Amino acid sequence: PQLPIDQADIDSLSPVLKEELERLKSIFYVSTRKLIEISEQFEKELQDGLDNYGSNISMNVTWVLGWPDGHECGNFLTTDLGGTNLRVCWIKLTERHGETNVIQQEYRLADELKTGESDALFDFIATSLGDFIEKHKLGGTKEDPLKLGFTFSYPAHQDYIDHGKLVTWTKGLEIKGVEGEDAAGLLRQAMAKRDLPIHLVALINDTTGAMIASAYNDPETIVGAIFGTGCNGAYMEDVGSIHKLKTDLPDDTPMAINCEYGAFDNAHNVLPRTEYDIQIDEESPKPGEQAFEKMSAGLYLGEIYRLVVVDLYEKGLIFKDQDASKMRNPYILDTGFLSGIENDTSPGMADTKRAFIEKLGFEATPEQLIFSQKLAEYIAVRGARLCTCGIAAICRKKGIKKGHVAADGSVANKHPNFKRRWANAMGEVLGWPVDRKEDPITITSAEDGSGIGAAVIAAMTLKREKEGQT
Ligand code: BGC
Ligand code: MG
Repeated sequence: PQLPIDQADIDSLSPVLKEELERLKSIFYVSTRKLIEISEQFEKELQDGLDNYGSNISMNVTWVLGWPDGHECGNFLTTDLGGTNLRVCWIKLTERHGETNVIQQEYRLADELKTGESDALFDFIATSLGDFIEKHKLGGTKEDPLKLGFTFSYPAHQDYIDHGKLVTWTKGLEIKGVEGEDAAGLLRQAMAKRDLPIHLVALINDTTGAMIASAYNDPETIVGAIFGTGCNGAYMEDVGSIHKLKTDLPDDTPMAINCEYGAFDNAHNVLPRTEYDIQIDEESPKPGEQAFEKMSAGLYLGEIYRLVVVDLYEKGLIFKDQDASKMRNPYILDTGFLSGIENDTSPGMADTKRAFIEKLGFEATPEQLIFSQKLAEYIAVRGARLCTCGIAAICRKKGIKKGHVAADGSVANKHPNFKRRWANAMGEVLGWPVDRKEDPITITSAEDGSGIGAAVIAAMTLKREKEGQT
């Protein structure tokens, strides 16, 4: 087969396989109407999160009080705890459009750490920071410590900006003894044990970081969004609309909200879950949580694909009599695998054929290659379309009609079709004219949120402290 696969290719499939493909197409299809219904429910859940603590979507206040003015500058240390690596940066900020200098290093997060104990994790972060500042001779003293912005991309309740109580791990992490604890405090303790001359200024979410880093250079930024291993968004609210929050801040004070909308529809009211989505949820370390994320984020797309393949194999529809032992491993397929299949331009889909052998141990026939390509497309299209709902809901709620959605994450950046699919679906949900010349709300590639964003937020925080505001 040759891409793009057309109707004639699909018609060439055996009747059973063709029928199966039709079934998959329809269960993964999300109509415009459904997208609108989801967005409407989304708006309600966002509102509920602003009104009440303990709501499904938590709408966390971040204490990032407003947009950067572009004059933030200075030297900052930042660190970002991701699912695979810990990234440490030293960032020199020199105003909007200035030359930003970044020195960075990745420290590999060993698998044992991801399911181990709290101490081991925070000791690892502190040790990595220590190694970094020593290697780059960054100095810092007890009296004049280095200023740190800590990106912690998990749902955290913040009573102030340099504090963040982890509510629940997401994205498969299972480190014991952190849930319910203040992650900033744990890092502070681990740094104190080593006498590191570092002052933790701010704990931030990756979405807030992406939004602020992007707004630093692009004042048209309206939302920071992550379409990556997990999915989530942040936007700027005004304090008066955050009814659950008791504070002395004036009502018109801007406050960045980390929505934590990966938890949307945990009650399973509107999302069109398939049997495969239900299985992902049930077999995950946290059943019943992150319902929306599990249908749209990078960690899960490949796994949904694998579960379909397992199902069809067991029904005797594909890869008959081939060795299925590799295929049984959960989470062996990543988003890169799916986008690779969708964008395979090699003759006869040779690259996909090779990927199947390598990853799953299957020799795919031409017919199975056609089938696999369509399946990859259905799953990715559904994910991209669903991904518009949270942001459409924010825009509708706030009456935002135009601007830039600063997006980061592996799905947004590495899946070549994602942005186009997202934009189309956004137009459907918000009812933009089909013959429009341009999209009023566009998805842009976010600036480095956990580096520059964390540094800008730390700078904003220090400036506020200096001016004697809270
Ligand atoms: C986390 C969010 C994060 C998102 C993207 C979700 O699983 O709960 O805090 O922003 O992933 O990384
Ligand atoms: Mg990340």
